[in-house]
Amino acid sequence: MRSTLNDCHLSGAERIAVNEFSMVLPELVMQALSSCDVPDRIVISVDKIDPSSVTYTAPLRVRTIESSSSEDAAGAASEVLRDCGISPAAVEKAFHLLSTGPASGGRNMRGAVIMDGATGERMEPDKSRGVRVSRVDYTADARQTLITMLSKQGIFHRRVMDALAIASKVSGRSETAAELCWSDDPDYTTGYVASQKSGYVRITNMKKLGDSVGGRVFFVNSKNLNLDEYIFYMEKKPVLISLRPAFMEFHPSTSSG
Ligand code: AMP
Repeated sequence: MRSTLNDCHLSGAERIAVNEFSMVLPELVMQALSSCDVPDRIVISVDKIDPSSVTYTAPLRVRTIESSSSEDAAGAASEVLRDCGISPAAVEKAFHLLSTGPASGGRNMRGAVIMDGATGERMEPDKSRGVRVSRVDYTADARQTLITMLSKQGIFHRRVMDALAIASKVSGRSETAAELCWSDDPDYTTGYVASQKSGYVRITNMKKLGDSVGGRVFFVNSKNLNLDEYIFYMEKKPVLISLRPAFMEFHPSTSSG
């Protein structure tokens, strides 16, 4: 689902539905209508997926860093990113882009920036649209377990579920060194850094309340990167976030002993 107002991106969501198709469509419409502004366009695209093309990945573990200001948050995020091997120059470029608007004219993008984690060079072919992660969702079990777990921690939010799914898919690809994100929703100021190494690190006060600029940066190891394959994985490869090993998904009656 993608919603816009005056041709500007408002919200988006991805689902993979097995039997619950008739339930998912109204949820997507409700999600579009509950964003910060009322959209004048909602587009829902439905594609048939070959079940044998679906791969499974585990969700990243979630933790939170409480920060008291956007400067404080930037310091915490930079530390996590540097620990993931991102160079100071790339960290600085990413922060500059996301705080000034990553598309031309300081606009938000629909998708993400792909950035060389060593040099800070932008690599996505379309620098207005970016690369949009699609075809990702939770298995029913994983969704329910994560809702319960996040609720117990007091951090359940639809946004956290959506972003955790995206981050788990993105970091499931070995060329991804880390991801940096904060929302363009002026009322939602918690951002995150995610990677296999750090897990999904929520960072509060990543931007000032009322600021409607945001975005995502995927930092990559450009050595051995096949950019077309990487983008294909992000946009087209169906991935389900599961709490069970992949083997169990295909052999549900098998006991691990
Ligand atoms: P959101 O957290 O939905 O407010 O999104 C924040 C920013 O992340 C947006 O402005 C887009 O630039 C980017 N974005 C949103 N959804 C996706 C996606 N599915 N794949 C890649 N980038 C996205």
